[in-house]
Amino acid sequence: MLSITNLKELLNEFFKRHNIEGKIGEQLLVTEWDKEAPELALGAKPLYVKDGVLYLGTYSHAIAQELNLRKKELLDELRSKGYDLVDIKLQFVLPEGRSETGTEPLKVEVTREDREWAREALAHCSLPPKLREKMEAMLAAARARERAALSAGGKRCPSCGTVFFGEGKLCPICRIGSGVNG
Ligand SMILES: [Zn+2]
Repeated sequence: MLSITNLKELLNEFFKRHNIEGKIGEQLLVTEWDKEAPELALGAKPLYVKDGVLYLGTYSHAIAQELNLRKKELLDELRSKGYDLVDIKLQFVLPEGRSETGTEPLKVEVTREDREWAREALAHCSLPPKLREKMEAMLAAARARERAALSAGGKRCPSCGTVFFGEGKLCPICRIGSGVNG
């Protein structure tokens, strides 16, 4: 069985290979989010920590705006829990299984090609089998969801490259950056 130390080393190696240079303690914030997140941030999904910056994913313009406005409060709370963060950035992620309107479920089908693509992407990382399985499934599902969203009328944000639904040229997150609060 893997000890915690071994697992941490493996994770560190994985993050390094993906240019996610953060301390393992920071990445733990991502895996322990449900327990560690300030209440107002529970609606967002932690993606990763890089160079002391926590990237949070959300598909909601409203949530993104709220978090953006209360960023300092969030940072203070996380720092008081021992996380050495310098900033929080928001990224657009597609809603799980549904389009932004919430009326039409996306038909997401993870194909063999998706799984092969994901396996290829992680081929050169030494990961514990369980973690590899998890990350492969995550990557394959993300790719399948993006494809489903595009064929359901989603469009690609020219600024950040994510696929989203709704009006306008930019995704809800990039819209905040281009607005008065930017
Ligand atoms: Zn964008």
